[in-house]
Amino acid sequence: MVDIRSVHKSFGPLQVLKGIDLAVRTGEVTVILGPSGSGKSTLLRTVNHLEKVDRGTISVDGELIGYRRSGDRLRELPEREVLRQRTRIGFVFQNFHLFPHLTVLENITEAPVSVLGRPRRAAAEAARRLLERVGLADKAGAYPGQLSGGQRQRVAIARALALEPRVLLFDEPTSALDPELVGEVLDVIRDLARQGTTMIVVTHEIGFAREVADTVVFMDDGRIVEQGPPGDVLDRPQHERTRAFLSKVL
Ligand code: ADP
Ligand code: MG
Repeated sequence: MVDIRSVHKSFGPLQVLKGIDLAVRTGEVTVILGPSGSGKSTLLRTVNHLEKVDRGTISVDGELIGYRRSGDRLRELPEREVLRQRTRIGFVFQNFHLFPHLTVLENITEAPVSVLGRPRRAAAEAARRLLERVGLADKAGAYPGQLSGGQRQRVAIARALALEPRVLLFDEPTSALDPELVGEVLDVIRDLARQGTTMIVVTHEIGFAREVADTVVFMDDGRIVEQGPPGDVLDRPQHERTRAFLSKVL
């Protein structure tokens, strides 16, 4: 579903991604671990072209992201096309990014109505079903400011799902939450995994990774140091840097 090949990215002189290769199969959950500054967020952002890669390619569901092939060269897609691609790649941020002046229901229906041109009534019905799925059926009329962090993040997940994405990307979805609210958000992500949603999740929640991930990827300094089933990477890490990282977070 997601095919990342030889992706390089620098910010000025700082090389942040130094050749990333990663394949995520349909219905699988990939958890990315790694120290702060190792390039995890940048990698996620390249998948929906929030960051342009310097070298390498990314495709989602067989479609090249941000570019089209023209002979043996790549040409950048027009912004309109990039926006269309982005609607099918759900992104859930650490800090929710909800619209504060819209209700929960309006937050969820905004993109389906304005980007996909769905009729408002159908979008609202779909949004109510999604709210049910994330356990917030009674919050449709509330504003984000009236919700807890865990509830806001569940709204953000419902909002991402409303565009029926092919893949969902999570960038530390529980890092901004009080500890007692982490579980309710992880429960929702776990449910999505059970239903076969393709996901890439950056998180420091090792227990969650062990339970939910099909593949755990350990990144350090712009490279994938090792990847494999959670039992291998978490319990029998092959690299000293992975061991050092795990000993700090476990
Ligand atoms: P992580 O998510 O693993 O903590 P990031 O991908 O956010 O790592 O950042 C990797 C490195 O790239 C860091 O050194 C960060 O400061 C740098 N970086 C990220 N985004 C930018 C940017 N837009 N401009 C310059 N440097 C950036
Ligand atoms: Mg990050």
